[in-house]
Amino acid sequence: MLILYFLLSFVFISTAVEYPKHVRNTLEKIASDVYGVFGVYEQISYKNRGFISNAYFITTEEGVVVVDTLSTYKLGKELIETIRTVTDKPIKFVIVTHYHTDHFYGVSAFKEVGATIIAHEWSYDYISEPSSWNFFKARQKILREHLDGTEMIGPQITFKDELNLNLGKKIFEVKHLCRGHTPGDIIVWLPQKQILFSGDLVFDGRIPFLGSGNSKSWLSCLEKILELKPRLLLPGHGEPVMGEENIRKTVNRTYKYITDLREAIRNMIEEGKDIDYVRENINDALIEKDPSYTQIPVFFDVNPVNAYYVYFEIENELIEEGL
Ligand SMILES: [Zn+2]
Repeated sequence: MLILYFLLSFVFISTAVEYPKHVRNTLEKIASDVYGVFGVYEQISYKNRGFISNAYFITTEEGVVVVDTLSTYKLGKELIETIRTVTDKPIKFVIVTHYHTDHFYGVSAFKEVGATIIAHEWSYDYISEPSSWNFFKARQKILREHLDGTEMIGPQITFKDELNLNLGKKIFEVKHLCRGHTPGDIIVWLPQKQILFSGDLVFDGRIPFLGSGNSKSWLSCLEKILELKPRLLLPGHGEPVMGEENIRKTVNRTYKYITDLREAIRNMIEEGKDIDYVRENINDALIEKDPSYTQIPVFFDVNPVNAYYVYFEIENELIEEGL
């Protein structure tokens, strides 16, 4: 088993491919019947074609279950072609961990091949909001022809708290644990193998985005994830994490960032600082807490954006506390 762990971690280290020409160039077998494709650790750009997130698939005797669909219709098609290099079984279900563009814009490609799309009921709130169209237009500006064919499509099956799937003797527990990264994050838990697909609730290799969920509730989600005691954690961005201890460390890094950000903003608000001051000074405040933040990809871009949203959250919390 130790040798297997060593070999797998070697494979994960070697997945840092820059601008892969096709999704299949990043394909890795992660565990028996479990595969992943891995985007680059960047913001969306024309150069990277939007391939900045991960997607996974699990093969069973009766068909394939896919977790997340990548950022565009074209990348979704490439993911399907990649699945076809492993199995010709039908793609039965696609579980979308959350309705953010880099995870669900590939849904249209999967609908074409007859897969049933599953997501949290919040996904319909998202696609009916005018802001989702603003995002779409912003993506069009950046990705241009790479976005061709992409449509904002909702799931066929939604749920509120939990949904269990059985396919080809494999059990998939799909759970909504909290309002964290978005109001509708879901995780996929394979109890037989203790494998957890975390979506964007656990960020590895980049700074989490806190712009559409709730940072306080997100912390409770991370505690629930650790309670499941996963042995393999497959995040929406970054590399797979293997072994309970490594998973605890990775989950705690997301936990620490959110806690540090909340503390820094709370202190600034209590000192009477306004939103503009917080946005301008939040990078320095966090670097003072932990200089290693400067090493995390997209920290300088995403941290001030996070601060903007969390500022209002904490302001509300303080009002509720009567301060
Ligand atoms: Zn996301």
